[in-house]
Amino acid sequence: ALRQVEHAQKLSSIGRLAAGVAHEINNPLAVINEKTGLMRDLIDLREDFPDKERYLQLIDSVLKTVIRCRDITRRMLGFARRLDVSLEELDLNDVLQETSGFLTQEALHRKIELSLTLDANAPRIVSDRGQLQQVFLNILNNALAAVPDAGRIDVCTRGDGEGVCVEVRDNGCGMSKDTLTCIFEPFFTTKKTKGTGLGLSITYGIVKRLGGEISVESEVDKGTVFTLCFPKHPKHEA
Ligand code: ADP
Repeated sequence: ALRQVEHAQKLSSIGRLAAGVAHEINNPLAVINEKTGLMRDLIDLREDFPDKERYLQLIDSVLKTVIRCRDITRRMLGFARRLDVSLEELDLNDVLQETSGFLTQEALHRKIELSLTLDANAPRIVSDRGQLQQVFLNILNNALAAVPDAGRIDVCTRGDGEGVCVEVRDNGCGMSKDTLTCIFEPFFTTKKTKGTGLGLSITYGIVKRLGGEISVESEVDKGTVFTLCFPKHPKHEA
């Protein structure tokens, strides 16, 4: 199951990268298309252009190639979108149990108490299981990195008519005000070579895409609480 999660994570980050690249390539491609079309019209209008047919042929083959590139980027965007959200009705408690299960070995080994207090009456939500796993793996991995041996991490859920909120509380190193303002920025890390600084920026993107909210409170040397709330239905699927 861990392999599956890793695979899903890799696929979705590759998907996002592909979508980003495809999107960026589309703009210059549109410029090439427009300018080449203009060039074609200018040559076409000139009666006396030497070797006119030959030039028009060459330009048409450039334009055809632009269309081919555009098809490729469209397919890349479509592929990323399919990977992006796959909605189903699910029990967030199940997802949390599964995800924390991936980390129990490390917690046990370091004598960290990883406790779950799950609201059995929390409503089921329409969401993306794989992406929720990725979100909570990121949050829990950060908590594991923050707590000392024999520390504790408490995960609790509570549901209401609107959806479900999850609190992940650790008694680790906490964060300064300066750190707190940067944590959702891509590539921001305090872990030097051990961190990528991508975990929380990806997490933020996923939570937003699933219609949720994420907030954080932290105090140096006391610990950190991440609160994530998900609606019963994601309203805007971006
Ligand atoms: P990375 O873990 O690779 O550094 P993240 O985006 O997941 O990247 O986290 C960014 C930074 O946020 C971390 O380097 C760390 O300073 C801080 N952080 C995140 N979670 C916690 C936590 N539970 N306790 C203390 N600091 C945290």
